[in-house]
Amino acid sequence: MAAPLPGAALIFPMKKFAFAIHGGAGTILKSAMTPEKEMAYRDALHKALKLGADLLEKGGSATEAVEAAVVEMENSALFNAGYGSVFTHDKSHELDASIMEGKGRKAGAVAGVKRIKNPISLCRKIMERSEHVFLIGEGAEAFATEEGEELVSESYFSTEARKQQLLKIRDSMKTQLDHSDDQLKKFGTVGAVAMDSKGNLAAATSTGGITNKRYSRVGDTAIIGSGTYAENGVCAISSTGWGEYFIRAVAAYEVAALMKYGKMTLEEASNQLVHQVIPEMGGDGGIIAVDSFGNIAMPFNTEGMYRAKVDSENAPEVSIYK
Ligand code: ASP
Repeated sequence: MAAPLPGAALIFPMKKFAFAIHGGAGTILKSAMTPEKEMAYRDALHKALKLGADLLEKGGSATEAVEAAVVEMENSALFNAGYGSVFTHDKSHELDASIMEGKGRKAGAVAGVKRIKNPISLCRKIMERSEHVFLIGEGAEAFATEEGEELVSESYFSTEARKQQLLKIRDSMKTQLDHSDDQLKKFGTVGAVAMDSKGNLAAATSTGGITNKRYSRVGDTAIIGSGTYAENGVCAISSTGWGEYFIRAVAAYEVAALMKYGKMTLEEASNQLVHQVIPEMGGDGGIIAVDSFGNIAMPFNTEGMYRAKVDSENAPEVSIYK
């Protein structure tokens, strides 16, 4: 490439797309992982990443990409979202999810749904086809039925591994973040963030919440500004971690505010949230973030976070540990 003329402005080529996903953060230690299990997680992350990236490569929208990747992870038993969601105290499942697109700051969210196969797709329908943003429980399921969204029986979400997690702590009054026993503590929520070829941003997050939850507990995943946020020209964020803290920190919006008003870069703002704000309050977890230049940040303050990223200039990277 020819050297730029003296005095000429350096123009950085705009990335055509950028895409990142997570499958939850927590005490994910290599010592507690079998090679088979690690390979299964890496394959699942790679598959979900590729689905979204292929769409973006072909000119698909950021919204399409984040929905496709999250649906893929909702359908995998490895993650605490959709099929394979954790159990509530009442031995059922209550799923939370939300999606947001940066253009026009449109959003859709659901909480406490029990029969929606892919909660993230219902969120997109709420965003695009209803005049509302946030639907809960039976009402959300009624809207899903009207819109032809796939409903399943409650037992569809159950797996033996998740049942055992509940049985271990059910008699205590404690709740538990996914695999949060001494061996392997992790938050298995899934999420995706994208910048598409038009510079539009989008974010999506989906979860079964926390094991042994009661009283219709809702976490950050369903809450726009905490678990999910996207604003064109600023950033798109998807969170995972101890939801109560992410709600109180208004976590995803905090990153956007630090960029907008605090003039921080994506990386500085993401680090401030994850390494300062959340731990100072006593919480833990991580986020994935993308800005409108296609920069990606994926900080976490736990032992590991299932994560993957790719952009139009760089090859896919799948990571688990610190
Ligand atoms: N943030 C989720 C919740 O509190 C848990 C997770 O990230 O796995 O419901």
